[in-house]
Amino acid sequence: VRTIGVLTSGGDAPGMNAAIRAVVRTAINKGLKVKGIMRGYAGLLQEEIVDMDSVSVADTINRGGTILYTARCEEFTTEEGQKRGAEVCKKHGIDGIVVIGGDGSFRGAGKLSALGINTIGLPGTIDLDIACTDYTIGFDTAVNTAMEAIDKVRDTSTSHERCSIIEVMGRNAGYIALWCGIANGAEDILLPERYDGNEQYLINRIIENRKRGKKHHIIINAEGIGHSTSMARRIEAATGIETRATIIGHIQRGGTPTCKDRVYASIMGARAAELLAEGKSNRIVAYKDGKFVDFDIQEALNMKKDIPEEQYEVSKLLVR
Ligand code: ADP
Repeated sequence: VRTIGVLTSGGDAPGMNAAIRAVVRTAINKGLKVKGIMRGYAGLLQEEIVDMDSVSVADTINRGGTILYTARCEEFTTEEGQKRGAEVCKKHGIDGIVVIGGDGSFRGAGKLSALGINTIGLPGTIDLDIACTDYTIGFDTAVNTAMEAIDKVRDTSTSHERCSIIEVMGRNAGYIALWCGIANGAEDILLPERYDGNEQYLINRIIENRKRGKKHHIIINAEGIGHSTSMARRIEAATGIETRATIIGHIQRGGTPTCKDRVYASIMGARAAELLAEGKSNRIVAYKDGKFVDFDIQEALNMKKDIPEEQYEVSKLLVR
């Protein structure tokens, strides 16, 4: 491998820039050339390819979003699209690529590997919904942002003695909801992995808590369950207690990355460039059981994960 490319694909996440920076600088250190591929696989097919050096990534470690921009690309899910992608790589002398994104992006990365382009995936998503890894780039920043926002909603919720349903992101996974539920001391946490849809249970709890003198009732709802606004309307009608829904939304995807996201993304980015320098391909860098490791892409995509039972138990024990 002499020239590598780096791209970000799918949803953006804070810390992606730290990963890009680490890929670029590690590769240069190892005597490789680096090209930035803009807008994910879409930019690859459009040949939006720029030379990168150490200076291209100066002043980026502290910035949210991705300096390479990101996109979704329908064409790349087809065989012709993938073949064209591999041809574009060859035309530009790119023999290895680091793909920063989620499972969808890794499926594309696997296809590129099969077509002879050495490809390494880095888990970049705020949702933490990648089975092979206990950490994804952006999760820490996103949960901290959500936690702070929920604290603020709680203040006003208490002042007005309201019930609040606060919806956090996470796609079909409940990791952000679970972490915020614990960190914000929510009265109830609704996780797509566990919620049975029993609204009457919530209603009874709200009424009981109010009798016990609680001034607020915070329910953290996960994006994967959704419908926070209609849920609030039904709960208000059933309890007679003013109930508001707050959907925190895309604020969770932005902002300056936390220290953890910067450091872990840097380590993972460096590892990805090292793997390419060693001639490895079709791997995903992960953080598993306290160690940075890498897995075969197809093996990683076949893994399953669920919210950790210990965390779930703690969340149940601490709500009252
Ligand atoms: P994420 O990477 O965050 O899971 P997406 O699922 O939107 O996000 O995938 C990002 C991009 O990866 C898609 O727009 C597409 O270009 C590519 N991709 C997704 N699935 C496949 C697939 N099965 N084969 C090839 N490329 C894919």
